[in-house]
Amino acid sequence: MTDTKILLNESEMPKAWYNVAPDLPEALAPPLNPKTGKPAEAADFTPIFPMELIKQEMSQEPWIEIPQEVTDILKIWRPTPLVRAHRLERALGTPARIYYKNESVSPAGSHKPNTAIAQAYYNKKEGVKRLCTETGAGQWGSALSFATALFDLKCTVYMVKVSFDQKPYRKLMMQTWGGEAFASPSDKTNSGRAFLKEDPNSNGSLGMAISEAVEDAATHDDAKYALGSVLNHVMLHQTIIGLETREQLKKAGEKADVLIGCVGGGSNFAGFAFPFIPDKKKGQNIKMIAVEPHSCPTLTKGPFTYDFGDTVGLTPLLKMYTLGHTFMPPGIHAGGLRYHGCSPLVSLAVKTGLVEARAVHQNPCFEAAVQFARTEGIIPAPESSHAIRVAIDEALLCKKNNESKCIVFNLSGHGHFDMTSYDKYFSKQLEDYEYPTEKVKEALKHLPKVG
Ligand SMILES: *Cc1c(COP(=O)(O)O)cnc(C)c1O
Repeated sequence: MTDTKILLNESEMPKAWYNVAPDLPEALAPPLNPKTGKPAEAADFTPIFPMELIKQEMSQEPWIEIPQEVTDILKIWRPTPLVRAHRLERALGTPARIYYKNESVSPAGSHKPNTAIAQAYYNKKEGVKRLCTETGAGQWGSALSFATALFDLKCTVYMVKVSFDQKPYRKLMMQTWGGEAFASPSDKTNSGRAFLKEDPNSNGSLGMAISEAVEDAATHDDAKYALGSVLNHVMLHQTIIGLETREQLKKAGEKADVLIGCVGGGSNFAGFAFPFIPDKKKGQNIKMIAVEPHSCPTLTKGPFTYDFGDTVGLTPLLKMYTLGHTFMPPGIHAGGLRYHGCSPLVSLAVKTGLVEARAVHQNPCFEAAVQFARTEGIIPAPESSHAIRVAIDEALLCKKNNESKCIVFNLSGHGHFDMTSYDKYFSKQLEDYEYPTEKVKEALKHLPKVG
């Protein structure tokens, strides 16, 4: 049996992040200022982001150096292992070779600290005292609370109400790291108060929580906003995942045939797959699959157009696949995948055919998650189970066609705080929502009229 874990030394960690923007077949459409309809300028972002992150957001440089202070902290858990899923392969009886990049080993339990640490660093360097953010299931809020603790910054988290009530442990993680969490919609912001007036029992949504966090940051001088996905600089920071994976595959003497990641805002997928785009452009035949939930099918069913990142319409307009910024996805258990839009970079990669998008139902995902847990041991996050489902489907296809492909997926996080979702799955209470045609149609009526 060949090695199970393929490891890198700390000295082999990537020294620079990879920026895919100059390597895409089309130029990225610029974000637009919603008031003027003109391309947004750096000044449009300065109330909410530090300058260095704005520069990264707009950069066309293919490589951006990782500051030593950031690397020093990432070393607490990085480089993360690339693992050969020998036991899953055997259980499937597939001739395929399956590997997974294990991002669940970070202190917060997912890939999110990769960008949280970088964002906290640049904010600290520019004199910011407090970061404001939103969180859905609580993964991002806990990752940012961890990062701000290490840089001695304050952290305010607007947490989608339904998760705030259902996921007390994520909230306590934030508190342990010194972050302060409020149920969103909250009475702390104008946006929040307006949502509450409209519906005092609102479950909240990521879009609403973003509106609150952006407003908080924009109205306080010493505070800035931090976003856990979607934006270019977040995709950039996450490329450390794929850069490591590329080195690890080399060490194992492998070349990836299929790369798979789940997609909410797009960051773990982008970080994992984008560093292979230069190989693909050089002619290596790599299939890249972005997996999303059927109930929130942004990439497979949404139009590619300009839309807001939040519900109120405070953010610049981004050109992306979107279901409409007022779309409220059904309450599936992969909370991190319930977002109306998707990273403009991932959207463009899909639009230009570099990346294939696929939608899956939640019950088959949990089935895959349980099979993975019972063979490889790790209990995956419901989000990550989407990638596992498709990895297993691809491996079974190899079995049918008697092909020995190299399938690599990103295990974006563990599911230790999601056991209620597993409970619902075991007791057959999970619904496989059909595509919400009417709700999407309604939300698409509210797309901004530009672009
Ligand atoms: C947040 C999250 C996701 C989805 O976010 P992306 O930006 O699409 O990566 C996926 N998996 C886990 C474990 C998460 O916490």
